Amino acid sequence: MLRIFRHGIAGEFSSLRTYWYKGVALARWRFIGAVALPVALLALGLTATVFYALHAAARQADLVSAKRQSQEAQLALDDALDELAQSQTGVAIWSPLLRELYKPRPNWDWIDINAGTWLNYVFAHDVDILLSPRDIPVYMMQEGVRLASPHHAAAIYTRAAAPLIDVLRERTQRAANRHERLPGQPLANHATVRTSPSAIHATSTVAVNDRPAAVSVMRIIPDGSDGDAPPGPAPLLLSVRYLDRSFVQQLASVQLLAGARATVGRLSGEEHGAALIGEDGKPVGMLAWRPDRPGQAVWKAMVPTAAAVLAGLLATVAALLTGVGRLMRKDAASLDQLRVAHLELQAKEAQAHRLAYHDTLTGLANRARLATVLDEMLGSGAPEGVSAVLLIDLDRFKQVNDTLGHLGGDHLIRQVAMRLEALVLPGDLVARLGGDEFAVLLGPRIDETAVEAVAGAMVSAIQDPFVVLGANVHIGASIGIACFRDAQGDRTELMRTADIAMYRAKAEGRNGYRFFLADMDESVKLRREIEEDLRAAIVRESELLVYYQPQMDGSGTHVIGVEALLRWQHPRRGWLAPAAFVNVAEESGLIGALTGRVLRDACKVAVAWPDLSVAVNISPVQFRSRTLAAELIAIVRAAGARAQQIELEVTESVLLDNDEVVRATLIALRRAGFRIALDDFGTGYSSLSYLSKFKVDKIKIDRSFIHRLGEAEDAAAIIHAVVRLGHAMGLIVTAEGVETGLQRAFLEQAGCNELQGFLFSEAVPAAALQRLLGRLERVA
Ligand code: C2E
Ligand code: CA
Ligand code: CA
Repeated sequence: MLRIFRHGIAGEFSSLRTYWYKGVALARWRFIGAVALPVALLALGLTATVFYALHAAARQADLVSAKRQSQEAQLALDDALDELAQSQTGVAIWSPLLRELYKPRPNWDWIDINAGTWLNYVFAHDVDILLSPRDIPVYMMQEGVRLASPHHAAAIYTRAAAPLIDVLRERTQRAANRHERLPGQPLANHATVRTSPSAIHATSTVAVNDRPAAVSVMRIIPDGSDGDAPPGPAPLLLSVRYLDRSFVQQLASVQLLAGARATVGRLSGEEHGAALIGEDGKPVGMLAWRPDRPGQAVWKAMVPTAAAVLAGLLATVAALLTGVGRLMRKDAASLDQLRVAHLELQAKEAQAHRLAYHDTLTGLANRARLATVLDEMLGSGAPEGVSAVLLIDLDRFKQVNDTLGHLGGDHLIRQVAMRLEALVLPGDLVARLGGDEFAVLLGPRIDETAVEAVAGAMVSAIQDPFVVLGANVHIGASIGIACFRDAQGDRTELMRTADIAMYRAKAEGRNGYRFFLADMDESVKLRREIEEDLRAAIVRESELLVYYQPQMDGSGTHVIGVEALLRWQHPRRGWLAPAAFVNVAEESGLIGALTGRVLRDACKVAVAWPDLSVAVNISPVQFRSRTLAAELIAIVRAAGARAQQIELEVTESVLLDNDEVVRATLIALRRAGFRIALDDFGTGYSSLSYLSKFKVDKIKIDRSFIHRLGEAEDAAAIIHAVVRLGHAMGLIVTAEGVETGLQRAFLEQAGCNELQGFLFSEAVPAAALQRLLGRLERVA
């Protein structure tokens, strides 16, 4: 039995051996044919496809970017030409200027203030020239300076603009381009002109002194309100804005065209360009810039990573194949192991794939990875302790990007990433969501105080100055925190609530963190609803009403003006005070429309009561727009009212950003005749120092001081001091919120020039104003 057994074993063994050898040979070929070759081909194919796709995507990205940049350059150029002509209309279509020019001895100082300086400073013209009806240069301002002998100095400009002047004089004829309105001719196809139909102007790109420039020549005509033009040819306004200065700076900083320049010469090898077409249809120069090559950059950044990943993949495949081959040679039957190896191969492939999905700039996890990890954490049930998501948005990052360029921006983002990573524990995850937005996933902490500690540390870490490209840079961070237990296992909900908390942190002054609270959600919903309703109300108009509150003289006996205050009769919520919707309007870009509505109504009141001054509140947000002055001036003109009768109330915060745009706007508004009143004076920074830099006409002491009269000792002292200082600076001083006879007596005695408050009247509809004014004067 034992022997048989032995023999049996030996026999079996030897036959198994031959089978094994045959099997190995067979398996090797089968292996090569069925596995190794296809896998190798697949891997090679994969490599080629990935590289090809990457390269094609990069090329495509570059093409799209180049096209976009060309379009932006063209749009900016169109804008520059149309803006030049539009800016001329304020001066060229204006009877007073025409009258002045026809006087035997025009007052050139008056023309300086009302035409030359205005165009040079407010609209950044380089040169403005006035030509007599016989084309003689009688006035020229260049970079803010009037030239004593315009005749001589203007020659190069009149020579360069001669074809434009000839067309306006109807000495020659040619087809209009998109930017001009030629005499007796229809507008060109696809015209982009922004001037009013009464304007007549030839506007084009012209080479002046071998420099490309936007040039516009416009007829000076009456503004319609005052009769006809004098007989014979009109005087002309010739304006020049060189395209190689502020314009290209703007191209570089606003349209982000790197190294933008205008030239009459050639492009250098790597530059892209758009031709500047002159009035005769021939190019007068080129607009050149270094094209953005986002595709190239991504390609360069990706190639090493992709190559490494693919090399790793191929090495893995090769190693696996060898391993599997060896396995099969050893035991052709161990297909199970092959299956395992195959699975492993798949896993490696997936891993390689994931690698490519990290944020390439910082090496942090990206949004997709954050989502996966969050889902895993949320899915694994409620852990001990507090887990949370921190959503981080950098404050003032845009300014850094604008001043130091993308390179500086990238550099800064990388440093922020490092500072954030230094503050988390091994189980946490820092991710970059894109732009200047980061998210931090905090694994379980003992309690909320521990989460708060991390957020606080991150805020102060980012507040510390950074060194970027050799410059000291100060930014900040606003952080919204959402804890897992509030989100009930829903990732979208978690991110949404963190986002709301982050916006709250931003709204509350930046540089801080906020936990999400349920009532924030309510207020967000409410705001959104109000915004929607407000949009509709602006279209319908009937729900938005303007009320007027009288403003009295210092003794409280005569009405000298009214302040326009907005009221909203909401279809479901009833009467709403401005506090309920003005800040929503400011955040959603609707404030301009609201102000327009109020100002138009106020102009009607001003026309009806020519002796009253009418005050209108202007939101600080509106001062960010360069076109504010022009818009307000246009509304008042269209309504046939006088700017001298309108007072604009602005708050101190407007003056705090010591900003050129704000300065220019205030100057332009005051020059147009508006008076400026500083509203809510004393609630902001209470520093009178900026009043010397920005001229205003009036300060309105905030009603909180008047309220505290008789309650707080300092109120009376503060009011006395403000009145004295205000008077010393030549300003009118108003007190608002006067409710009692005692307050009135004190304020009159203190020397306030004007009083406003419920003691006299609250705001009433325009229709009730007549009766109210009668009653107030009678009482007096
Ligand atoms: P404000 O410019 O300081 O306007 C004065 C506010 O004080 C008005 O409230 C007015 O009704 C109220 N008031 C007047 N006299 C008295 C008084 O004796 N006692 C008390 N306690 N209050 C008095 P209102 O109309 O609710 O306006 C609040 C704020 O909303 C205004 O403050 C202004 O900043 C803003 N606002 C109102 N209308 C507009 C507008 O058309 N545009 C913009 N941007 N803001 C507006
Ligand atoms: Ca006001
Ligand atoms: Ca006020």
